[in-house]
Amino acid sequence: MILILASLLLAAPAASERAALGRITAPEISGHLRFLSDDQLEGRRPGQPGDELAMKYLASQLEAYGLKPGGDGGSYFQAVPLIELRAEVPRDIHFAAGGKDLTLHALGGSTADLVLEPNAHIDRATLKDVPLVFVGYGITAKEYGWDDYKDADVRGKVVVVMNFNPPFKGQGVRLWYGRWDYKYINAVRHGAAGALVIHTTPSAGYPWQVLANRADGTHQDLPPSDVEPRGMQFQGWITEAAAIKVAELGGEDLDALRKAAESRDFRPRPLGTTLALDMPITRRQIRSANVIGVLPGTDSRLSEEAVLYTAHHDHLGHGPPAPGTTDGIYNGALDNASGCATVLAMAYAATFAPPKRSLIFAFVTAEEQGLLGSRWLAEHPPVPANRIAADINLDSVNRWGRTTDLGVLGLGKSTADEVVRKVAAEQGRTVHGDPYPDRGAFYRSDMFSLARVGVPPVAVKGGPDYAGRPKGWGDEQQLEYERKHYHQPSDEYHGDWDLSGDVQDAQLQLAVGLRIANAPQMPAWTPGDEFAAKRSPSPPQGAGSDR
Ligand SMILES: [Zn+2]
Repeated sequence: MILILASLLLAAPAASERAALGRITAPEISGHLRFLSDDQLEGRRPGQPGDELAMKYLASQLEAYGLKPGGDGGSYFQAVPLIELRAEVPRDIHFAAGGKDLTLHALGGSTADLVLEPNAHIDRATLKDVPLVFVGYGITAKEYGWDDYKDADVRGKVVVVMNFNPPFKGQGVRLWYGRWDYKYINAVRHGAAGALVIHTTPSAGYPWQVLANRADGTHQDLPPSDVEPRGMQFQGWITEAAAIKVAELGGEDLDALRKAAESRDFRPRPLGTTLALDMPITRRQIRSANVIGVLPGTDSRLSEEAVLYTAHHDHLGHGPPAPGTTDGIYNGALDNASGCATVLAMAYAATFAPPKRSLIFAFVTAEEQGLLGSRWLAEHPPVPANRIAADINLDSVNRWGRTTDLGVLGLGKSTADEVVRKVAAEQGRTVHGDPYPDRGAFYRSDMFSLARVGVPPVAVKGGPDYAGRPKGWGDEQQLEYERKHYHQPSDEYHGDWDLSGDVQDAQLQLAVGLRIANAPQMPAWTPGDEFAAKRSPSPPQGAGSDR
């Protein structure tokens, strides 16, 4: 008995950690959340006054907690040079094949057949009767022995691409190759003039109106770089029904083509149809920033390394009132005022147990525009990327109460998992991988940007097993949210969420961060992981600062 007690005491978390975790409360999170998702913030679109207000709120809180500024010139703000591209998208888009014509519509909310956006940073997109080529999944993945492009020449042509990816890692598991962002990048690398991704609700994970309702030809971008090359006249989406019509016009059967694309022997197939487009594009600079606060480490040597917390502060702004809502404000309460509110609560709590390594709290911009703020942060980190022990990212927290389990996105990627498993066990929770692997959530939020420069991720959320609820209840809540509220004006906060599960998760995420920050060694990637080679070796500890 005495022996057991002694070992329990040894294993017990430090008193300072327990005191810090006790500072995280639902009312504190609720208070931040209510402000950040208020209508006055107008959906927090980067470059608009509402998001600027959100950024100033976040910086004020960091200052009040006594955190040091981690941005430019001794401020809390790291400027991110966003560029807004705005295309004057024509309503009618003309397709032709052997004397036959087909007109599809690119505007009109959910009745649109196409959604078009700029890709290259050019003044005008011009395509004169350019041939369309079906390229299956549009994936070039040597490690899986897969190349949809083969030796086909698609230069100057428009590629039509299926969403998702073949079952490289199991049926229904979405990888980076299954994301639309990747499809565009690979199309650019093959010299395509444009790319259209075929939308289906199962392959996208969200209905057509999520894309079409707020499509107005604008999107934001970073200055072009090798990481994500640009170069096409346009990028966009097409509904499944419209894609079938376009194929039919050229005498092709889209279903047969899609079937053929499931095989690695698939070859790109000209659709026999051409597209004409003339679309002026304007560009302007956007003022936006990542908001960064630092809790300096207590160890003179290890404080040069850090554990990073990230949550994106931006959302979609506002548009015309959507059906069934009173306004067109995309409040983004869950996505991601909730993550910002929770990271603020953790930043405050952390000041009661400052660890050996520094803690960096970064509220990043333009996540919804393609993880732009976090990409900028990853390429311009406040401490060198190989000295960042882990990125603990929060995007859309658990709002349905306490859970008996914990989902880990990217489970198995690094030894940070061991810390997560330990703290979860102390909370009496079981650990599993992504409960919805078809969504590809790992590649859809900011930890992906940090992983790309070699920083191991910690991306966790309680659920879907809720304490005192029947099996399947959590999945129902998640599905209903995705169908009705994800990226819709109804993602609002009215004080009626059960934040006890978010507190439970926040306590876990803070404990994990503190323990990683106090450990002798930083977490290591699992050998052979897709990002392991991105980690450049750290200089020997104590070798002095190279900053
Ligand atoms: Zn989002």
